[in-house]
Amino acid sequence: MNTPDIVIFWFRRDLRITDNHGLYQALSSGRPVLPLFIFDPAILNPLPSRKDARVDFILNALHGLQKEISGAASSLLVEHGNPVEVFREIISNYSVRCVYANHDYEPYAIRRDEDVKNLLYTNGIRFETYNDQVFFEKSDIIKDNGLPYTIFTPYSRKWKSRFAGAAFYPSETLLGNFFPCSPFDIPSHEMLGFIPSGSSFPGKSVDDVTIIEYQRLRDYPAKNGTTRLGVHLRFGTISIRQLVSKAASLSETFLNELIWREFYMMILWHFPQVVTQSFKPEYDRLEWLNNEAHFEAWTSGSTGYPIVDAGMHELNQTGYMHNRVRMITASFLCKHLLIDWRLGEAYFASRLLDYELASNNGGWQWAAGTGVDAAPYFRIFNPMLQTARFDPDQAYIRRWLPEIQSPDYPKPIVEHTFARQRALAAYKNALR
Ligand code: FAD
Repeated sequence: MNTPDIVIFWFRRDLRITDNHGLYQALSSGRPVLPLFIFDPAILNPLPSRKDARVDFILNALHGLQKEISGAASSLLVEHGNPVEVFREIISNYSVRCVYANHDYEPYAIRRDEDVKNLLYTNGIRFETYNDQVFFEKSDIIKDNGLPYTIFTPYSRKWKSRFAGAAFYPSETLLGNFFPCSPFDIPSHEMLGFIPSGSSFPGKSVDDVTIIEYQRLRDYPAKNGTTRLGVHLRFGTISIRQLVSKAASLSETFLNELIWREFYMMILWHFPQVVTQSFKPEYDRLEWLNNEAHFEAWTSGSTGYPIVDAGMHELNQTGYMHNRVRMITASFLCKHLLIDWRLGEAYFASRLLDYELASNNGGWQWAAGTGVDAAPYFRIFNPMLQTARFDPDQAYIRRWLPEIQSPDYPKPIVEHTFARQRALAAYKNALR
């Protein structure tokens, strides 16, 4: 092979140049860096719609990266295929000394990385990975006895006591260290088996006022009181270190939400069984009703409970739902309708732009009462009281549910007091 020795940086959930830990390490390695992204059919093929906004988001981000990288006379290599096969091909075409990447904590990603690592190691190539997706990862924050925390408050207390400001990785200052090459093409939607969704995405910058006002406004779905940064954190188009630094100086409430994100990632790492099982196993004795017509009414936003229906309409139309309404709709599905949290979780996963396994699973198990540090099972959100408190003039409901005025708007599919009693009985029965 008469190509120069290079290293590869493999972009995954870190689609940015700025303050990218693994990329910084690659660019500091002393060898030219070939940047790579792989569209993995194991992730793309199961997506329920061929018009998935997340594919648009990733393609946009890749074009943005390509622009920055081509400015440094290099190019992002974008492949479509099984990662092991892609690497097999690359290492037969280039003299690769090391592959750099950032940690990923989801069970599929861990297996994928293990397979890639085995291939590389058998070929004498190193695979170096770094923490980038979260501020503190895996076992960085554990109890004094070495066990993982399962309650948020002591976890967050330890997290804050360990936080002494952020160290950044200025990868953006090392662009000259990319591998000089002529431009590679980025596949189109069609080549990936998709069609453009035409969605628009929230911006990736947030002003200080939003963070300062976060505590006061975040619970009111009609107000623009949250940052909408979820999708950027999901795909790494912003740096968590930069966001945490901002949060730490501006709002403890906002910082706490970023810590919840890390808490759930840490839980997924230590307790991967939560993907399919209740964190508290005794709750898997619950006898869910799983009524299909009720599930259909919930997904389509026609339960006759305006706040629930408005939330589902927002989700179905935009790929986003406000956190307060996520809690209300999730609680309604599990408790009022006695439908298994796993079904609701899968539906959110298919729709949310910011879908993220750890937080979605954590949020659903929290709402169902089955999870780590969850809402107690007897806390059953009353959709009417939640509306009175958090959408008092019904501005959110009117925005997403204009048909509420129509005589055809459905009557409630289940009566609140009856549903509440039924849920309490079912949970008690499971926990006997
Ligand atoms: P902001 O309120 O501005 O918060 C900033 C960031 O902090 C968020 O983008 C997110 O990364 C993190 N964050 C905020 N609240 C939470 C939380 N409670 N748990 C974990 N992280 C949090 N969040 C996801 O990122 N992906 C999901 O798939 C997801 N599914 C959820 C499902 C349910 C049933 C529930 C109750 C919550 C879920 N959340 C999920 C958490 C939360 O609802 C969203 O992070 C938030 O609504 C995103 O809006 P934002 O970007 O404006 O967040």
